Amino acid sequence: MSTHAPPARLAVVGNPVSHSRSPQIHARFAQSLGHAVDYTRVEAPLDAFVATVRAFAAAGARGCNVTVPFKGEAFAACARLTERARRAEAVNTIVFEAGGWLGDNTDGAGLVADLQRNAGVALAGRRVLLLGAGGAAAGALDPLLGARPGALVVANRTLARAQALVERFAARAAELGVALSAAPLASPGADFDVLVNATAASLQAEVPPLRAGTLAPGALALDMMYGPAAAPFLAWARAQGAVARDGLGMLVEQAAEAYHVWFGARPDTFAVLAALRREVDSAAAGAKA
Ligand code: NDP
Repeated sequence: MSTHAPPARLAVVGNPVSHSRSPQIHARFAQSLGHAVDYTRVEAPLDAFVATVRAFAAAGARGCNVTVPFKGEAFAACARLTERARRAEAVNTIVFEAGGWLGDNTDGAGLVADLQRNAGVALAGRRVLLLGAGGAAAGALDPLLGARPGALVVANRTLARAQALVERFAARAAELGVALSAAPLASPGADFDVLVNATAASLQAEVPPLRAGTLAPGALALDMMYGPAAAPFLAWARAQGAVARDGLGMLVEQAAEAYHVWFGARPDTFAVLAALRREVDSAAAGAKA
């Protein structure tokens, strides 16, 4: 596709959505690949997600991303689903096709790409702790299992939700030979090599109540949040002797995966993540000043 072709129309649909950095990320991807892309933000009324997306599709758009709180509704509205979206029961990427919408979920693939490629942590055989049992944790589970960790523990404030999630993925874990189990948030076990915080605790400036020894020395601890909200978790992780990582890399990698779904081309994420990191850091410094 040349830059003279009419731009491919895309958007992130959510409520609220004004904070989303997806337009900047996709504009950078498009520029790096010489594609003409018009990626905007669309705020859907809470009771009109499907109607809003239908109108966007009817205007000739190629697809959209879906963010909070519509990933479950998007899952229900798609005519076709990728395997990873079907397992997650959540959709964050839609392709508008002639026969209906194709739904995908790129969040977990983005997380695994960030952990393995950007942070350089090979997950195979490692002990992984996933905190949370909401949409973000569900999206992460299948790709995490696919990386074949030795053990994967899902710990959540409401234990029953972690148990239900583990139950849903039990057959997949057995197929892949991964020991998958559920645990209460405060006592998930010890000596984890990788911790992924997929709870919304950071939004409330709370740090999960984990004991010393939960992490192995030199473990990697990632919060799916980024910016000032992630700061308490990152400080806690460093105090445990862990390498702390926020969710910015995951955000860029899930976007790259979505871009690949729409265009069949995979953008390079390195420079985009570095530029976004500078923007987020300078916004945080500006907020402090
Ligand atoms: P959900 O509302 O579906 O789930 C929230 C989860 O957080 C539940 O497991 C809930 O536990 C737990 N939780 C909420 N508050 C607390 C608390 N104070 N202490 C401990 N646990 C708590 O949200 P999502 O799963 O959709 O999103 C979770 C986070 O992930 C959000 O902060 C979101 O911004 C982030 N995210 C980041 C992405 C990225 O690209 N970087 C992509 C997707 C999500 P319980 O079941 O007990 O209520």
